[in-house]
Amino acid sequence: MIDLRSDTVTRPTAEMKRAMVEAPVGDDVMGEDPTINLLEEMVADRLGKEAALYCCTATQANQIAVRVHCTPGDEALISDTGHIGVYEGGAPAALSGVSIRQVEAARGMLDVAALEGLPWPDNCHHPRTRLVCLENTTNLGGGYCYPLPQLEEVTAWARGAGLKSHLDGARLFNAAVATGEAPRAIAAGFDTLTLCFSKGLGCPMGAALAGSREQIRLARRARKIMGGGLRQGGIVAAVAVYALEHHVDRLAEDHARAARLAEGIRCLPGLAIAEDSPQSNLVFIDLDPAWGKPEDLVSRLREREVLVGKAGSRRLRAVTHLDVGDADIEAAIAAFCAVLR
Ligand SMILES: *Cc1c(COP(=O)(O)O)cnc(C)c1O
Repeated sequence: MIDLRSDTVTRPTAEMKRAMVEAPVGDDVMGEDPTINLLEEMVADRLGKEAALYCCTATQANQIAVRVHCTPGDEALISDTGHIGVYEGGAPAALSGVSIRQVEAARGMLDVAALEGLPWPDNCHHPRTRLVCLENTTNLGGGYCYPLPQLEEVTAWARGAGLKSHLDGARLFNAAVATGEAPRAIAAGFDTLTLCFSKGLGCPMGAALAGSREQIRLARRARKIMGGGLRQGGIVAAVAVYALEHHVDRLAEDHARAARLAEGIRCLPGLAIAEDSPQSNLVFIDLDPAWGKPEDLVSRLREREVLVGKAGSRRLRAVTHLDVGDADIEAAIAAFCAVLR
């Protein structure tokens, strides 16, 4: 099976398994896991922030950020396709008493024009608008990368409006590699950032939250409350250390394969892929309703040993990752051609 459903389906490589076996470990709740401490220093350094916190998942890291920045009754602004609003089980409300205001955003990317005027005035009738959350690359928005100036404008606007800003950078390294911008430059304007190790970096689990020393101190407390206090977590953090050193630059290969897949199927009847995409490892494929339903195409492709995901009532998503090679992409293109031509 060629599995293009998600970049979360990767299995650890032999080198990653070796890194796990050899990892020095200790009790992280006591601050004594040398591998987690190393990973947190590496993440803080790569993102140019004072500190970082290893988390179980990117969802957990995002929700810790919501909790650190907000108090119950507060409101967070986010694009209408943002993961924190649509894919995290209503967690801002469930865990932190925070309401989400979804802002319509082309390609999942917010700009100042869309945000201006949205924060409520300080008045007891309104929720207190406290946080703006961005996503880079966008996921459901279409796998797009923010232009750096747009990030700078939005974070400067947020500061001016008295809001905190959080970047859901589950695929931040994809954005950095695709645009050629330094991760530190992407991170610079944000109060906090989430990174995910179990997406393109290929780890079995794990994520990180980065921010100021004080925010990460509060985040450590929030993580404990959410049941994420780790003991000898270095056994898995070791894989993230390995991935930061070995699996970042190679994301360019995933992007090239996504582009090749799009090129190979874009002209098939019944399909459309936005002209300005793919920009990263996510290929969104719009299906003409005259052909049928996305789930029908999913099952026809499955018969040909290619797995893709449904991403809406007319959309499919194909994702390239560490376990997909050039030959797999050619085979996937052939399967699409066989089904649609
Ligand atoms: C996958 C994803 C997450 C959540 O990651 P988990 O580690 O699966 O919780 C958060 N944000 C975005 C944009 C994602 O794509």
